[in-house]
Amino acid sequence: MNRQQAGFDQLMRFWLDTASARGVVARLDHSLSQALEQHDYPNAVAQQLRHLAGAAVALASNLKQAAKIVLQAQGDGVVPLLCVEATEALTLRAYANVREGASVMADTDLASLVAPQGNGRLTLTIAPDDGQMYQGIVTLRAGNVAELLGDYLCMSQQTATRLWLRDDGNVLEALMLERLPEAQHDEAGDRAWSALVAQADAAFAEPFMPFPFAVWLNDVFSGHVVRGQEPRAISFACSCTLERVHNALRLLGADELQSLLVERGEVDTRCEFCGKRYRVDAAGVRALFAPADATRAPGSDSVQ
Ligand SMILES: [Zn+2]
Repeated sequence: MNRQQAGFDQLMRFWLDTASARGVVARLDHSLSQALEQHDYPNAVAQQLRHLAGAAVALASNLKQAAKIVLQAQGDGVVPLLCVEATEALTLRAYANVREGASVMADTDLASLVAPQGNGRLTLTIAPDDGQMYQGIVTLRAGNVAELLGDYLCMSQQTATRLWLRDDGNVLEALMLERLPEAQHDEAGDRAWSALVAQADAAFAEPFMPFPFAVWLNDVFSGHVVRGQEPRAISFACSCTLERVHNALRLLGADELQSLLVERGEVDTRCEFCGKRYRVDAAGVRALFAPADATRAPGSDSVQ
């Protein structure tokens, strides 16, 4: 069994017809270590980013068009921002802003890192490449990412949704279960859903076992028929481009860039997600503010 067959950096959507539920299972391995290797985050920060990444990828697998899921935890703590993005193509990237000189204890939970005083928030953004952005916000409280997001999803989608995340430091495993809207909402239906949740709870209490998804799911949800889609690959990818850097620099303004040039001889920026450096010299800065088409006659809309 190779790594792909064993579900490493793979995601599979599945249906449990016998329980009116559907779900997503994913194992993140190299994709996650690549997303984090550019950074030297304290363990607790990397751990929370890993969990957010697992959740973001599971959510992104439900996207029906070119779009990204952005999960951001923001507050006034030693880690004012953690940000993870996952796309419909199951690429992911992540970064955190850690205050300089901050000491972060191991195993600190998300709320304690981001907002120990209680005024933090977790934002879920669905940003289509083309179309209206959607944003939902939940107040950060003590608890793990799976609980926080699970509660939020139940509220916003008005259908029961549960999320499980399991991390052994190398591999992160995510499972999301959704009760289908057409499920029977009577006592028997509620009992069937609770039984499924108990089966998943029991599976996640066990040590990590890298079986192929189909084998693992049949084992976890014994008594049900599991129908799965073909697994899809998860990978690390950053969407930063020189053009986006130029746009961001334009927003800073010519005066600010000029003073940076005087101070350092060039404008040196670094992508916060992947660490790639973009250097712009004096001529490059001038070009940023040059008219888009100097040869075009004023008032003329014709394209030459
Ligand atoms: Zn980048």
